[in-house]
Amino acid sequence: MTTFTTFTEQQLGKKLTEATNQEIYLSLLSFLKREASQKAKNTAKCKVYYISAEFLIGKLLSNNLINLGIYNDIKQELALAGKSIAQIEDVELEPSLGNGGLGRLASCFIDSMSTLGINGEGVGLNYHCGLFKQVFKDNLQKAEPNYWIEDNSWLLPTDISYDIPFKNFTLKSRLDRIDVLGYKRDSKNYLNLFDIEGVDYGLIKDGISFDKSEIKKNLTLFLYPDDSDKNGELLRIYQQYFMVSNAAQLVIDEALERGSNLHDLADYAYVQINDTHPSMVIPELIRLLTDKHGIDFQEAVSIVKHMVGYTNHTILAEALEKWPLEYLNEVVPHLVTIIQQLNDLIAAEVSAPGLQIIDDEKRVHMAHMDIHFATSVNGVAALHTEILKTSELKEFYQLYPEKFNNKTNGITFRRWLEFANQDLSAYIKELIGDDYLKDASKLEKLLAFAEDKAVHARLAEIKKNNKLALKRYLKENKGIDLDENSIIDTQIKRFHEYKRQQMNALYVIHKYLEIKQGKLPKRKITVIFGGKAAPAYVIAQDIIHLILCLSEMINNDPDVNPYLNVHLVENYNVTVAEHLIPASDISEQISLASKEASGTGNMKFMLNGALTLGTMDGANVEIADLAGHDNIYTFGKDSDTIIKLYEDATYVSKDYYESDSAIKAAVDFIISPQMLAIGNGECLNRLYKELITKDWFMTLIDLADYIKVKEKMLADYEDQELWMTKVVHNIAKAGFFSSDRTIEQYNQDIWHSTEK
Ligand SMILES: *Cc1c(COP(=O)(O)O)cnc(C)c1O
Repeated sequence: MTTFTTFTEQQLGKKLTEATNQEIYLSLLSFLKREASQKAKNTAKCKVYYISAEFLIGKLLSNNLINLGIYNDIKQELALAGKSIAQIEDVELEPSLGNGGLGRLASCFIDSMSTLGINGEGVGLNYHCGLFKQVFKDNLQKAEPNYWIEDNSWLLPTDISYDIPFKNFTLKSRLDRIDVLGYKRDSKNYLNLFDIEGVDYGLIKDGISFDKSEIKKNLTLFLYPDDSDKNGELLRIYQQYFMVSNAAQLVIDEALERGSNLHDLADYAYVQINDTHPSMVIPELIRLLTDKHGIDFQEAVSIVKHMVGYTNHTILAEALEKWPLEYLNEVVPHLVTIIQQLNDLIAAEVSAPGLQIIDDEKRVHMAHMDIHFATSVNGVAALHTEILKTSELKEFYQLYPEKFNNKTNGITFRRWLEFANQDLSAYIKELIGDDYLKDASKLEKLLAFAEDKAVHARLAEIKKNNKLALKRYLKENKGIDLDENSIIDTQIKRFHEYKRQQMNALYVIHKYLEIKQGKLPKRKITVIFGGKAAPAYVIAQDIIHLILCLSEMINNDPDVNPYLNVHLVENYNVTVAEHLIPASDISEQISLASKEASGTGNMKFMLNGALTLGTMDGANVEIADLAGHDNIYTFGKDSDTIIKLYEDATYVSKDYYESDSAIKAAVDFIISPQMLAIGNGECLNRLYKELITKDWFMTLIDLADYIKVKEKMLADYEDQELWMTKVVHNIAKAGFFSSDRTIEQYNQDIWHSTEK
């Protein structure tokens, strides 16, 4: 009997066999919190603060068990008592502190910082209702509050609190922390989540709408509250300032505690700004150093300039934040004074309008402020960084070439292989040992088995078992009947036109029409989608509607359902991803080239033995280079071509629609009588019209090539030796995408945080 069984039986006053899953979960929670509390905090003179509006951390129970190195022991102990660890994992609610790839990246990064023993912590906000919980009704997405904070949770209250000054009032903050354990380390870090005391759920009315003016009660209710009106924009500014003022006060207080005299603050702290949401930390640090700590302005600027780095995550113009000076003045006038001084400093040095912080329309370009005052500006995949340098941020690159660098994203293999795909990781250990968990490049030893038929057979068996596990999960949790004998073709990510779920949906329609005409696929295909659409993003909602209608029609049509199924999994999150990815055969990474900065979903699939069907975009380019261009399936126009098309404004979607009868048939089907009988005419017509009159993200330009390459892929699947050889190459070369590698590079090139 190990310490856990003793602990539980003492806590509950009964035998493990008699405890409920709920009781065991709570007992494991306190057991693990106690274990974590005994770990020492990482130390180093220079501490890294990774500030991010989101941390999509996923459930923590199993992750902590794995990082403590006791997952299998506990699993066996529970099994001996007739308990299933999977059912106990089900009890935990997934924290709702993030929205997509950027938040998941931040979570992988804090895991890796702990694993590498770096003194680095996450700083963000403790949103009570998250982004939203997605539910489908009448084939439409509805948004509900995603409550996740329970009486017993991973949150550890602290007595740290700061005064956060706004124009008309001061808010007191509170800090809750979550312990972040590294893989088999005796030290830890924290995720710092700032909050207000007065959160009032009573403000929430119908769905996720709420009174946006009640800042003292709503500041940490939701992540990315609707900003389609002025009050919404102001609330976002309140949130951002609240986050960074807390962060800046924490940075300074902790540096003082460790012996800094603040003139040397840059030796004690480095702040990594994850996208532009935390950008106001720059003027806020300067404000605190001058107003509160009496350092003169010039010196304060110089100090801050040595301790900040900025990570860019997007080239979508609409995603680069620009706050009207007037709005900032309504919320944080004391910061506007500093921002104006920074603007003047830059204006005195450079005259080009595109380089200014405040533009002619009196809007503050957050990214511009970051670039001028950071030591480092990084993109998140090789191609993305090149595009920043040569096109999006070209003027800045010419001014500061030495600041620009690339840090290709990564994922933690503990969660995305060791936990999510336990049979595969056990088999890999059988083949090559377990040193790949600490040094992911060791996966390359698998190349020796690329052509090994016995290995192929075992990989196929593992995939099949994962499909069966997914079938059970989808049945129990999502009301979906999965056919485990079909090819599983998966596209899971936020819904956005640039990610082109609509192109995949057009493929589905094309396939449906072929089947109806008697052209039957060799093997059944199940196309799975998952993802949320921003509530204010109308076309993304329409794409969800289209897919839900297709799903209803196809899955219920006896002519078609033996060959094709379509599912859209409700409320896609980390837990759903952990089930879907290990069971998938095809990884859909079909963004319009140049638009996906990196992607990390693509890396998770590669690691789990799914083959990529993708454009030469983001990290897909590096996946192709590493795995070998023969081992992934690429299609579509390249990024240079697309960038040129935008520059010349010469793309006309209607030309593609009219010149290819298969494309025309698929697009027309959106507003066919069959679809209109099931769906909402307004949504379907709007989407149809969008595709043929605008199609800003060029769905139709790549559709014919997409269909062709997907057919080739499906044909190749029938040659399992060929397929599995490619699978082995992919897994073996996935090591580069470990977030441990990414974080090592951040630390070596940017942070320089060393052991004590
Ligand atoms: C990995 C992940 C993402 C990012 O997916 P992309 O395909 O890179 O956009 C988003 N959401 C969840 C839940 C994830 O696990």
